[in-house]
Amino acid sequence: MKLSVWLDWMSNRPAAEHIRAVLQQATAALATITDTPRLDAELLMAHALHVSREALILSRLDDATPNGFGALLDRRLAREPLAYIVGRRDFWTISLNVAPGVLIPRPDSEILIDAAVEYFGSAGPKSVLDLGTGSGALLLAALAQWPLASGLGIDQSDIALGIARKNAAELGLETRAFFEKGDWAAGLTRRFDLILCNPPYVETGAVLSPEVLSEPSDALFAGCEGLDDYRRLIPQLSGVLAAGGMIAVEIGASQAAPVSDLFRAAGLSCEVRQDLGGRNRAILHFSLGKAPEST
Ligand code: GLN
Repeated sequence: MKLSVWLDWMSNRPAAEHIRAVLQQATAALATITDTPRLDAELLMAHALHVSREALILSRLDDATPNGFGALLDRRLAREPLAYIVGRRDFWTISLNVAPGVLIPRPDSEILIDAAVEYFGSAGPKSVLDLGTGSGALLLAALAQWPLASGLGIDQSDIALGIARKNAAELGLETRAFFEKGDWAAGLTRRFDLILCNPPYVETGAVLSPEVLSEPSDALFAGCEGLDDYRRLIPQLSGVLAAGGMIAVEIGASQAAPVSDLFRAAGLSCEVRQDLGGRNRAILHFSLGKAPEST
């Protein structure tokens, strides 16, 4: 019997199996495919119940298992990313809609916002540019951080732009967040205080998990060294950076040297920043113009 059929049968019995026990069984099944089996099981159960994970843990563990949990579990066991199944992912201080066709925001990318907070303080940048915005994660996190800032997200994908606009509206940021279809910074004429960019940087042909392979390949792969998009976008950056501004570009853990070389070749000094796991994760550039007012 398929696990989902069995679980739905269990949940429809007169004395339905309690969530607590089903979570234990689901965790054991998920341990074969993920390092976070309990978390995944709880998030799927919370989604089936239409409640937060916190509400599930605090007050619903002795309830009957909801119909539909088994089908969600089957999808995850078939290696569909959790964020696509539940349709959401938290990033920095915000929660975003995500769906197939848009990259799922990673906690690693928060280091770009972290570095910008360190540089701009609470005064913040006035204007933010997010190149390859996807779900809008970096731009909307920055605008949520600094209530006086506004910004532009660029993407080549109509699906991504649709999801980013929906996220901006849900977060009440639609009057400060603008989105346009584009090819990195090509054709932009104005300058921005903060430029954020998480481009594709995985080597074409790299071995990735089935979950990651279900994300859009355009957002992941960038040629045999993973450098193709850096080569195109880095030379464009100095033309859109305001005096006193900052650039933060995400990199793969082994790309600090070649991407730093591309920054220097474009006339931009740079420094490398690590993520919380100690891996090289971002290249930062600080403009030599007037520094932002300290707070
Ligand atoms: N960090 C992502 C991964 O390892 C890749 C995201 C990207 O290419 N920008 O899958």
